[in-house]
Amino acid sequence: MIPYGKQNINQSDIDAVVSVLQSEFLTQGPWIPKFEKIVSTYCGTSYATATNSATAALHIACLALGVNKGDIVWTSPISFVASANCALYCGAEIDFVDIDSKTYNISADRLAEKLEIAQRNNKLPKVVIPVHLAGQSCEMERIFELSKKYGFYIIEDASHAIGGKYNGEPIGSCKYSDIAVFSFHPVKIITTGEGGMALTNSEKLNGIMQRLRSHGITRYPAEMTHPPDGLWYYQQIDLGYNYRITDIQAALGVSQMNRLDEFVQKRHSIANYYNVLLKDLPVVTPYQMSDAFSSYHLYIVRLKLKELNISHNQIFERFRNAGILVNLHYIPIYRHPYYEKMGFKKEDYPESESYYSEAISIPIYPELTNEEQKFVVQSLLTPLGHQTIF
Ligand SMILES: *Cc1c(COP(=O)(O)O)cnc(C)c1O
Repeated sequence: MIPYGKQNINQSDIDAVVSVLQSEFLTQGPWIPKFEKIVSTYCGTSYATATNSATAALHIACLALGVNKGDIVWTSPISFVASANCALYCGAEIDFVDIDSKTYNISADRLAEKLEIAQRNNKLPKVVIPVHLAGQSCEMERIFELSKKYGFYIIEDASHAIGGKYNGEPIGSCKYSDIAVFSFHPVKIITTGEGGMALTNSEKLNGIMQRLRSHGITRYPAEMTHPPDGLWYYQQIDLGYNYRITDIQAALGVSQMNRLDEFVQKRHSIANYYNVLLKDLPVVTPYQMSDAFSSYHLYIVRLKLKELNISHNQIFERFRNAGILVNLHYIPIYRHPYYEKMGFKKEDYPESESYYSEAISIPIYPELTNEEQKFVVQSLLTPLGHQTIF
């Protein structure tokens, strides 16, 4: 079996986890702040809040920015449902902006058009959530300019993108956003089993997120309504959650961070080799903006189905039969029944629809070998047992 993505765990990762298991704290110990520090330092951000998932981080990021009933949040339809669900958790309305035809990220042109209309109708979003699909940054400079013009906040869903860069800055720097969120699910670039993190340069936003991660409780006298009753004292001042990550996971995260650059380098050499193998074939390989350095979480190709003379589903079948677990990232969010009920129409998202009819994610992860890559490309073209091209 060749999955589309998988974790890479070595002996140092295992040793890191074992050492926490033998220590005093399994959770709420020293490894969580160490993990937050190593990630925020890597990204050049002042603050970070680690959570038990990126979904949780997106939720508390929305709450920290005051997203509430009556507010509107916009994101890309070509993402995992969590990018949109976070707004609904807060009671807000969600809407989608169509994607760019080359990068498949939220289109800055469509965003600009939609904002102009929204302003006329008094329906401007409070937050826009650009998603860095496959690890390539969105056009953050343009989106940031629009945020200044129309007065919305930006949360980067950088779940795919730790280790990537934009305009020479690490993704997650929050140079063009209020908050950036990473995921550490095993298929992502680095893993903690489950886990996520919200980064920001705002002490205030980070303070709120730290509190919301743990029931809305504070232990800082300055944040309390009156002086502490005693040494035992704490106050719940917001309605928070238990979104804490464990020290076991945070130690794994620190160990994985030390391997991040090596992972991304490996992913680049895999992508480069696919680019060569696929060069003259009827597929569109991933377009890269000149100011972007992708983490290559995914390697997405667009199939020229007419030239291949095959249906989208038949290609999936062919791969599955060869034991290659290709995937489609993603089903446009508005197509899910839960969202369809809200009245979204696929006619409003022509680029997303066209993408959905042709896209496929082929395997990419650090351990993937050149031989396996050749086998993947061969399986794209010929059913098992037919002639080989290499
Ligand atoms: C994986 C993913 C998430 C959710 O991450 P979890 O850590 O599993 O909660 C959110 N957004 C995108 C774009 C993702 O790929």
